[in-house]
Amino acid sequence: MVATGEKIEESYLENGNKLTIYREPAPVAMKVVTIGVTKFASRLLGEVYDIPVTAWVYPENRLDGFSDYGVATKVLRYFIDQIGPYSYAKLANMQAKTQWGGLENAGTIAYFENSVNGKNEVEGLIAHEIAHQWFGNSASENDWNHVRLSEGFATYFAILYQESVYGDDKRKEELQLDRKQIIDYFKKIQLRS
Ligand SMILES: [Zn+2]
Repeated sequence: MVATGEKIEESYLENGNKLTIYREPAPVAMKVVTIGVTKFASRLLGEVYDIPVTAWVYPENRLDGFSDYGVATKVLRYFIDQIGPYSYAKLANMQAKTQWGGLENAGTIAYFENSVNGKNEVEGLIAHEIAHQWFGNSASENDWNHVRLSEGFATYFAILYQESVYGDDKRKEELQLDRKQIIDYFKKIQLRS
């Protein structure tokens, strides 16, 4: 089991139940509080400025998942260096049944099930969700109309991260992909109306 915050208790009770308590000292908006319950395989990927970074994946995806999510330490270090201190007790990266590509829950990010394939193809997605820890989580929207702000910052900072690793061509490629996605979406909703 994994949830937002630091694990402070894990006890098998006399009545046969198991009690697990997580505590997050930082203020967290309820929309990004989460809990994941299944038989996970989990591993500490590394520590970045004392923040533990972990992977939580299905047992059958153990080695692929640890490899695919491994880049999260590098991403976290980049954003702390570029933006400022990270707010939460830990950074868990969790394979999950989210209907989205990823969901930026505070300190416990959910990624779609097939994000794990052992080919390290989700670095951009991981960068986007980790950027949300600052933009969307630490600084939250006042209202749903403002979601474009947190999405805009997360998208922009994910591109900056990828540019820092792969260079200017990668930045251009990502911008072109975003542009195409927006135009395709606009065409789709036009067809519907
Ligand atoms: Zn987003």
